[in-house]
Amino acid sequence: MSVESPLKTDDKRSKSALLAATQVADPSTDENKAGKSGRKPIAHPIPTRFRDRFPNGLNWTNFTWMLVMHTGAVASLWYFSWTGLAICAVLHFVTACLGVTLGYHRLLTHGSFKVPKPVEYFFSVCGMLSAEGSPIFWVATHRKHHVLSDLPGDPHSPNDGFWWSHILWFKPRVLKSEEEALFARWAPDMWKDPWHRVFDKIFPVFTILLGIGLFVAGEAMEPGFGWSLALWGVCMRAVLCYHSTWFVNSATHIWGYRNYETTDRSRNLWWVALASYGEGWHNNHHAHQRLARHGHRWWEIDVTWMVIRTLQILGIATNVQDRIPEQTK
Ligand SMILES: [Zn+2]
Ligand SMILES: [Zn+2]
Repeated sequence: MSVESPLKTDDKRSKSALLAATQVADPSTDENKAGKSGRKPIAHPIPTRFRDRFPNGLNWTNFTWMLVMHTGAVASLWYFSWTGLAICAVLHFVTACLGVTLGYHRLLTHGSFKVPKPVEYFFSVCGMLSAEGSPIFWVATHRKHHVLSDLPGDPHSPNDGFWWSHILWFKPRVLKSEEEALFARWAPDMWKDPWHRVFDKIFPVFTILLGIGLFVAGEAMEPGFGWSLALWGVCMRAVLCYHSTWFVNSATHIWGYRNYETTDRSRNLWWVALASYGEGWHNNHHAHQRLARHGHRWWEIDVTWMVIRTLQILGIATNVQDRIPEQTK
């Protein structure tokens, strides 16, 4: 399904730039033979057997972590406090907006703007507190998604089923050699950075320390209050962040409208944009991947862009890719 496209897209140019920037091979030359025939999203059989989906078994670490986080989020309803809710809201912005959408996505994956290295590491720490993986893992996976969008090899396409694209895609066990190959191919620039290699080893520590810190602070305020702060500040907040990110992978490749005729299934979906600080304008983003601004129409509110613009005015963000696509009608 597609609608009329009144705007130009630099979809293909963005893919080329991404490939060049990351020094990775054009997938149309190997596993993605479909790329040569116009890169139309193609239907392929959805694997139904467990061993096809999970050739090396289940990633028990990810599975257990997600089970604990979701159980904690449900439990937090019995430990409600206004302080806990406020901490949840502030940390949601810090981790999901500053960390994931601004840091991991627009800065590290796409180079939509530049910041001094210490600022980049600050946003990386915010991202690691989201517990969505290390910066290098997130970047490598997302770059692969852009180049293979809705084609075989896309890490999380709804062509493989809604639940696969939403929550199952990171549940298979990944061998160390496979992970290293992923990083080497899709994020070689980040792999060269010793700090990002360290982050890749220690990223869960940040979230665990935050949880312990919140618990200790709450208990110091009032015995029993620690659970409220820890469950709302970590579990509920993380689960809200998870699903807003995952809906970008699932829902915005299924529902919504298109401003651009891209070669994938990406859509613009207002409620995902609201929940994810602007990431729901996903068709705009697939069409113009390096643009720091994902909302291209006046009503497409993009909170992350507002933060980047503020950083630009303050002189912290430079080389901001803020060219609005020209109207062609
Ligand atoms: Zn996408
Ligand atoms: Zn992207």
